[in-house]
Amino acid sequence: MYAKPHIRELAPYIPGFQPAADQQVIKLNSNENPYPPSPQVQKALQTFDYSLLRRYPNATAEYVREELASIYNVEPSQVFCGNGSDEIIALLFRAFLPEESTIVLPYPTYSLYKTAARIHRVHPEFVATSADFRVDIEALLAVPSDAIILVNPNAPTGLLLPVESVAELARRYKGLLIIDEAYIDFADGAATALPLIHEHPNVIVIRTLSKSYSLCGIRFGYAFANAELIQSLDKCKDSYNVSMLTQTIAAAALRDQSYLAATIQRLKESRRELIGQLRSLGYSAPDSQANFVLCTPPASRGLTARQITEKLAEQHVYVRYFDSPLLEDKLRISIGTEEENERLFQLLRTM
Ligand code: PMP
Repeated sequence: MYAKPHIRELAPYIPGFQPAADQQVIKLNSNENPYPPSPQVQKALQTFDYSLLRRYPNATAEYVREELASIYNVEPSQVFCGNGSDEIIALLFRAFLPEESTIVLPYPTYSLYKTAARIHRVHPEFVATSADFRVDIEALLAVPSDAIILVNPNAPTGLLLPVESVAELARRYKGLLIIDEAYIDFADGAATALPLIHEHPNVIVIRTLSKSYSLCGIRFGYAFANAELIQSLDKCKDSYNVSMLTQTIAAAALRDQSYLAATIQRLKESRRELIGQLRSLGYSAPDSQANFVLCTPPASRGLTARQITEKLAEQHVYVRYFDSPLLEDKLRISIGTEEENERLFQLLRTM
């Protein structure tokens, strides 16, 4: 009753199934990483001086910015650190997108963008992808807009727009080009748009430690852009937006690049295996460049994606289904450990 009218109309965010910490389930519904974070994270937690918690954290997460700058070959002034990339998304709206401005996004895309646009009274223009979910950059450019938001690899499709197309978009577009690379570490080859920030003052690349670094729980996102864009984000953030524990853990995880590489390799192999298994059961499952697979159950098996999701949940295996325009009868399955994927496959075989 006290909310602003446009907030009153918003549907609340409903997270997928969240088990209690001690509940043994196979959770493949939120694109989390099934492996623990680097052992260096455990060490950092064990040696953390808890008495420091009486102080505020470093306001700009300075040491983590430096770590990110050295790993990704940019200047610390070109790095922003946030409380999850979800916070960075909100800040992009706060800093760059006035009320009544227009953003263009391919559809389907990460659903938070629509919610963030509504909260900030920005108009989202969705441009449908092709039937096989390919993004058409001409169609994105054809709509007059203040910003284009591209999730790459896309969620929930798992498909990658080649970096050459992203570069072409950067060359031809004059508005703000936001590239959400939450899943980029799972893509094959040199797929990132990160080098574009050096030539294009309108490009911002956002990332997260949630997926490839197995750190959903600490809430740490980061962004790369030219120093001027980063400064605007800094002006709009909360004073101490990244907690001290989060900064400590993020720095420890970032320093262990070999663990990251090994985990990604393992997940990519499991992804290939799972896609093969799904296809062997008649599912249509396009190649994915993320840590999840979007697939369609075969009509011949007689169950919808929703029914399969419910039957799996009865066996404590959680996946997500979609049944919306362009995403009719789809299952999105996060890549689990080898054992988890095998259990899923054995259950799907019986359905
Ligand atoms: N972008 C995309 C495309 C995502 O799928 C997610 C996770 N659901 C996020 C951003 C947010 O990630 P986080 O806030 O955990 O960094």
